[in-house]
Amino acid sequence: MEQRHVEEIRTMISRGRILTDESDRYSYSFDGSFGTYLPDVVVQTKDVQELAALVKYANRELIPICPRGQSTSLSGGPLPVKGGIVIDLSVMNDVLEIDEEDLVAVVSPGVLTADIHKAADRKGFLYPPDPSSSHVSTIGGNLAENSGGPRGLKYGVTKDYVIGLELITPQGEIIRTGGRTVKNVTGYDLTKLIVGSEGTLGIITKAVLRLIPKPPAAKTVMAIFDSLVDAGRAISKVLSSGILPSKMELMDQASMLAVENYEPSGLPIDAEAMILIELDGHPAAVSDEAEQVSKVCSEVGAREVRVPETKAEMEEVWQARKLVSPAIARIKPTKISEDATVPRSQIPEMCRRLQEIKKKYNVHLVVFGHAGDGNLHPNIVADKSDKEEMGRVEQAVAEIFKAAVELGGTLSGEHGIGTMKAPFMEMELGAAGLEMMKRIKQAWDPNNIMNPGKIFPEPGQKLVLTE
Ligand SMILES: Cc1cc2nc3c(=O)[nH]c(=O)nc-3n(C[C@H](O)[C@H](O)[C@H](O)COP(=O)(O)OP(=O)(O)OC[C@H]3O[C@@H](n4cnc5c(N)ncnc54)[C@H](O)[C@@H]3O)c2cc1C
Repeated sequence: MEQRHVEEIRTMISRGRILTDESDRYSYSFDGSFGTYLPDVVVQTKDVQELAALVKYANRELIPICPRGQSTSLSGGPLPVKGGIVIDLSVMNDVLEIDEEDLVAVVSPGVLTADIHKAADRKGFLYPPDPSSSHVSTIGGNLAENSGGPRGLKYGVTKDYVIGLELITPQGEIIRTGGRTVKNVTGYDLTKLIVGSEGTLGIITKAVLRLIPKPPAAKTVMAIFDSLVDAGRAISKVLSSGILPSKMELMDQASMLAVENYEPSGLPIDAEAMILIELDGHPAAVSDEAEQVSKVCSEVGAREVRVPETKAEMEEVWQARKLVSPAIARIKPTKISEDATVPRSQIPEMCRRLQEIKKKYNVHLVVFGHAGDGNLHPNIVADKSDKEEMGRVEQAVAEIFKAAVELGGTLSGEHGIGTMKAPFMEMELGAAGLEMMKRIKQAWDPNNIMNPGKIFPEPGQKLVLTE
């Protein structure tokens, strides 16, 4: 990017900030995945009109634009891999309105998801999508990644709750898709196309989110297993028993050990796996379902089933699950967090394959996650300065993707493709399927300025976890 571009941008952004110092730009060069890429300029503004004019200019001058929330992406989504302008949307956080009559929340993209949860809760509503990063990630990032979380099992993911968007297109036009109505079949569903498009089709500047009434009661069941594969079978069995839990999370032995070493809470570390099941709804129904679920788990081979009685006990159990990610990050400095997802019937077979991959490549593989919807989170912890180890990790990760696709699953259930999974896109979609996606991108963004280098593989691109 030339100096004249920077000067021009300075004249365009009168109500925000332009960051050009190397130390500032460095802060915008990484996310939660791999690689560092320095942007030429970082722009912060709350003014949508100013931003639209900037995008129009960038499109004319062929300057890459990378929208960015809080950069917690685990797939490389906000990385400025081609340089250019990073737009820091975390500053655009001033609108968070709950409309009790329309049952919607209207939000700016920089609002933290946890703040939407709190605002909805105060009025007796629930915004169900609950990525574990909700305290640190923005709704704009969640929308662009179509983020999910434990509640996805019963309530679905971000796309299921977005009914309207405001977007700056790659040409710098401001458009609105959908609206405030629950039903809307006017033309193509651009809202759903933009959700999950990872910042490659435009910049989201406002969203209308659907809310639901808050379920009045919840209960948690903890089932402890001596075999990970049995735990996988229990998950399938509960799901086919006619009960739909709100959450169903798996922790394997390695993840329980990591949590106990990090913040002890009495987890059964001699067991091979534990599943945590949350049931929500009417109090009477919840109690009945907790009993039935406990019975199913015992029948499938759980060595112990516990039902925490008090709210505090329940919160402690879920806190242990929340701590898995930070706890395993302390084992070794490099954490590769995958989200390959399989059909529910294939959960036991995926658990078996993961064990095989762990042994074959001798990697420190930890399995935990949203098991109820097939979205296991195989995480590998390693040391990126050890080239030999990272070589084995790269092979193990590639094999995890292959196993998921072979079992009828997908590369990503919620973290997105970004740069990390782009090399594997054709394996899942086939050449023709990938080509159709490329054509959509080309129609929206013929100059390829909007978050270039994401989703679509560059010729010969391979997974590289070393820098
Ligand atoms: C500890 C931890 C736990 C996590 N748990 C989960 C989980 O349970 N479920 C889950 O789904 N993910 C999870 N994630 C991943 C991550 O938090 C999500 O992908 C999140 O949605 C990213 O939000 P962000 O604000 O950090 O966005 P960023 O990382 O900054 O950006 C993510 C993508 O969104 C695009 N983008 C951001 N804002 C906009 C906008 N306004 N308009 C257009 N494009 C935009 C960026 O270009 C990029 O492609 C976790 C991450 C961490 C570190």
